[in-house]
This record gives sequence, C-alpha cells and structure tokens, in this order.
Amino acid sequence: MQMRLSRLFAMFVAIVLGSAVAILPSLLMAAGPAPAKAAAKEKKKPIHILFTNVNIFNGFGPALQRGMSVLVENNYIKEIGKNIKKPAGAYVVDGKGRTMTPGLIDMHQHVMLNPPEGTAAYQSRWDDAAGGAFAMHHLNHSMLMKGITTVRDIAGDPLDVAKAIDMGYLPGPRIYSAGGAISQTGGHGDFAARNTPPEDLANHHDMSQSTQNTWVVDGPDEVTKAVRLNLRRGAAFIKVMGGGGVASEFDPLEIMGLAEDEVKRAVEIAKDNGTYVAVHAYHDKSYNRHLDLGTRSFEHGFLISEPTVKRMVQRYKKSKDIVWSFQCFMSINSFGSYESMPAFFTHEQKVKGVKVGKGARNAAKMMKKHGMFIVGGSDMFSPGLVERIKEDLTCNVKAGFTPAQALKHWTGNAGIVLKWSGPKDPYPTYKLGTIAKNAYADILLWDGDPTKNIDLILDESKLNFVMKDGLVYKNTVVEGDHPHFRPAKAPNTRGQYPL
Ligand SMILES: [Zn+2]
Repeated sequence: MQMRLSRLFAMFVAIVLGSAVAILPSLLMAAGPAPAKAAAKEKKKPIHILFTNVNIFNGFGPALQRGMSVLVENNYIKEIGKNIKKPAGAYVVDGKGRTMTPGLIDMHQHVMLNPPEGTAAYQSRWDDAAGGAFAMHHLNHSMLMKGITTVRDIAGDPLDVAKAIDMGYLPGPRIYSAGGAISQTGGHGDFAARNTPPEDLANHHDMSQSTQNTWVVDGPDEVTKAVRLNLRRGAAFIKVMGGGGVASEFDPLEIMGLAEDEVKRAVEIAKDNGTYVAVHAYHDKSYNRHLDLGTRSFEHGFLISEPTVKRMVQRYKKSKDIVWSFQCFMSINSFGSYESMPAFFTHEQKVKGVKVGKGARNAAKMMKKHGMFIVGGSDMFSPGLVERIKEDLTCNVKAGFTPAQALKHWTGNAGIVLKWSGPKDPYPTYKLGTIAKNAYADILLWDGDPTKNIDLILDESKLNFVMKDGLVYKNTVVEGDHPHFRPAKAPNTRGQYPL
C-alpha cells in the first residue's frame, strides 16, 4: 500500500506540475478570455496513437496475429482489431508489416550493482552516488533504449531511482524492486569486507548494508525487521538467500542460506503483505526447503536433480503459484568455462562458476522436458555484461527452447509473475508483458519476425520503435513532430521535464 500511495502521490505531483508548466504561459499573457481554463481542458483530452498493419506476438504466441491494428490511449492499450476506427486527432504509426511485441522484461537484474566490480562495488571503491549514476546510465542505454521496458530488480535498492523514473525526471524501465537482499551473516548477500568489525556488520554499518542494497541478519526477528524495512520503502516482493553463491566470498555453493525458521518468517511477512518471496538457490536441499515453506520464485537452481524438477512441475500444475527463473546467458555462457568468467571474479569464484555452467545446461533440459513455468532473467550487470542482457533471451534458444518460448519467458510469463506482488504492485492498473486490451502501452516494433529469427533481437537497427507507458523513446518508423508523439532523438518524450 505504501508503494501505491507514494507512487500515486508522485503521479499526482507530476500531473499538477505538468499542468502548471502548461498553464503558466497563458496566465502570464493573461490578455485572452480565460485561456487558463481552455488550456486545462485541452490537457485532459486523451492522446491516441493508432498502430496499423502490424503482426502481433502477444507475449504468449506461438503464432503471430497478422495484419492487426492497435489503439493506444494515453498509457494503455485500449483496443486491438483488424479495423479500428481512427479517433479524431489520433497519431498513426503505419507498421508496414513489422512485428509488434510487448516490451521485454528482465526478471533478474541488479541495477545498483553496475559499477565495474559488480557485487563487490560498495566495499571500497564507490559510494552510493556513483552507484546511482552507473544505474541510471545502464537503465537508459543498456535497457530502455534496447527495448527492455520493465526490470525485476532482485536485490539492491533502486527504489528512489524507480520513483524518479516514474515521475518523468529520468528515463528508464519500470522497476519492480525487492529492496535489499535478506542474507544470513556470511551468506550470499554479505558483501562486507573480510575484516569489517562484527559490530559494524550487525549495525548495518558496512557500505552494502548502509546503502540498503543488502541486509545481513540472523534469526527470525532480524529477518522480520529487514523484510518490513524493505516493504516500508516500497519493495514489491522479497528476495532471500537460500544457499551459497558464485559471486560472494564466504559461502560455498553447497551450503544452506537462511535457516528454516528464518525462511518461514520471511514468507509469513511477505504473505501478510499480499506479496511473495523469491529465493537465490542452486541445489536440491535449498529448493526443497523453500518448496516446503511457501517461497514462490525459484532463481538459478542449476545443480538440482530430476526428482526436484518433477516436484516443482507437479506443484505448478496443481496450484500455478511457483516459477523457475532461468539465467541462461549468465550460467551457460559467462560460466561456460573458467576463461569466460567475469573478470572481477576471484579464482575460487571462477571454479564455483564452472560447476554452475555445467549444471545449468542440464537443468534447462529437464525443465523443458517436464513443462515447467519459466521466466527469463539475465542476472547480467556491470560493464561488459549489462550491455549484453538481451543475449540471455536469445540464449534460451541455444538451451533448447523455441524462439516463441524464449520470448514468452521474457514477456507474457514475466507479466504474470510481476502481478504476484498483489497490493505491493507499483503498477497495479493494467497488465504487463502482453499486447492485449487493458495492458500498459509498452510496445516494440521489429523489422522482421523474431519468432522465426531470434537473433534479430540483438540487432539494434532492427528495433525500430520503443514505447513505454505510452511514451515514445525510440522511433525510426514515423517522420514528423508533435509534443505528444515526438519521434525524437531525445530519450525522454514526456516533454515536461528536462533530463
Ligand atoms: Zn542475482
């Protein structure tokens, strides 16, 4: 609720400020008859953009709907059909047979960990201001402008960055944030230096914790506090560490993360708030503990066995309430060999990574074979990786999925999981990840058919049009100019705010 109210308030401020800017010049001129009133009325008229002659991948597919029109009103899709009547004053985008897909959704991102050292960034080299600057650069250039219109930020604190994006001050995708990761001392979210004094660690005085990118907590009561602190600031869901990790120093892959009573408590508080828990885990023991205790989003899992996969699939088919979140490129390519590992990893971390890479290929095969519900999340952050996020989507095809399935992991399925945030959903009004009536107008136009040739997703010249929330960020389709539909070079098209 906190998030919804603060977002609503932010939107209200944005609207009031926007109108004030629009009305002010008329007030200053003051000579004409009641121009302020007329201007205010003008402002309220809905903006319509009509896409014609597009072939739609609706987020689920597999087939395209051919020769369609899509009517956008303000920030949502109002109508889809073969022959939509053009509303008076509508701006028309003739798709000329291009493929329309929903904006892409990266379900596993860490936008605040984008300095060169990745997870270790906050130990010594960068303060949170630099972290925010790195985040903004990549949110705009490596995500939004490449067609990623939503990210699920699964550990880290980009909550006020998200607020600034929603208010129109900064360009970037929608952000569903988990807030700081919930980790035990020495777990995958403990990024303090080896010699950080224990009292500093316990009092959250190390850099990773004081920036609220992670919480180092022990026992159900400390878990409760950290979960509630995240939710208080607007987290849409909760991320817990269920086992060891590759990119952290103190935790071999085989260990367990949060203890049973700690997981139980995190799930209880998340449920009390109408939302869910996502877990970082690799092996059977972690996955089974979290399946028992009510966790819903299962990240990684690259060392799990076939019986556990079958257990997940059975559970999903029965209750539709869990998902496997697959990090294809990170696990299969980056961790493909010792040499391909991110440069900021230590020798031990690289050895852990090789093990994960092998397991990932196997896990993907089993998940596909048994028909698990899957979303795609890159987990690719820091320079050198963050620019290649979309290779996680295309990697799904290398892992054995069809192009339409790969796209579904990154659009339709992702949109379903984002709505599991319930009352903590920062974007509760419309659907996400789909081209459908009453979905947010997050729309891409591609020159070509990605369900036939997935690699065109990686060719920036084939991405002709990026719309997020009804606003145009990239357009090489229509020539012309208007404040409401500006096929501009400028990334922020709301027109009311400078960058
Ligand atoms: Zn991650």
